[in-house]
This record gives sequence, C-alpha cells and structure tokens, in this order.
Amino acid sequence: MSVCIDVHTKPVWAEVHQEERFLDILQHMMQVALVKTFTFEAAHWLPTFPEGHKCRRMHGHSFRIEVEVSGPVDPAKGYLQDYGEIGQAWSPLMETLDHHLLNEIVGLENPTSEVLAGWVWDRLKPELPMLSAITVHETCTSTCVYRG
Ligand SMILES: [Zn+2]
Repeated sequence: MSVCIDVHTKPVWAEVHQEERFLDILQHMMQVALVKTFTFEAAHWLPTFPEGHKCRRMHGHSFRIEVEVSGPVDPAKGYLQDYGEIGQAWSPLMETLDHHLLNEIVGLENPTSEVLAGWVWDRLKPELPMLSAITVHETCTSTCVYRG
C-alpha cells in the first residue's frame, strides 16, 4: 500500500507493505490543532446591507481573530508548529488592519466577517500551509468560521 503522510506540509509518500505498520504509524502521531488569537480595532460599514440597516452606518469593532493550524505532531520534536511562526505570519496583516477603515483596504470593500475571514485566509495560507481555520469574532456573540 502506498500512503501519503502530510508532515509539516511536505507530503511524504511511503510504501507501506503491511497495513498494521501504517495503522501503527498513524496511532503514534498525535493529530492536534493549535489556535493563536489576535485582536485589532477597526471601523467598517457594510454596503450590501439594506438602506437604513445599522450595519450600513460607519461603526467600529474590537475584532478578535483566531488562526488555527492542524496536523500531526512530530514525535521527535513533540510539537506541530512554533506559535511564533503564526505570529510572524499575522504581523503584516496587523499593520494593514489595525485602526484602519476596512472598506479602504483592497479586497475588503465589502468587509463582512465572511469576506474578512476569506481575506485573512488567502494571505496566511501561503505562509502557514497547515492553516485549517480562520475565526472572526466581530462582537462577543457574532462569529464567523472559515475552513478554506
Ligand atoms: Zn460591524
């Protein structure tokens, strides 16, 4: 049997001649998800909402973004990915988003939580190939989860 094990984004093809051996390998690789949380302040207004809707008015949010990466724990290292690498990938986005009017940012002319989640995904995925979810908390009770 030929199997592909995606270890840290580098697909590793291996010939496994015994199914028991393959299952043994999988059982010994912990599958985990790491989540790192970032916050920023920004203003926006939503041009696709109906006239008179409160979301069409300019207003601000304390956005909270959760960046999730998922995959197998390297048994030799004991971790999936350095949280610091997630922070490094996020850093340029923070510069672009924090204390800005989101509508003025290219790609965020209609800055709903859904569009923002996709915008963040598109920019982080090349840097974080194990990216598995972007969660946008627009308010304490309103959250959008995008899994690519
Ligand atoms: Zn809003």
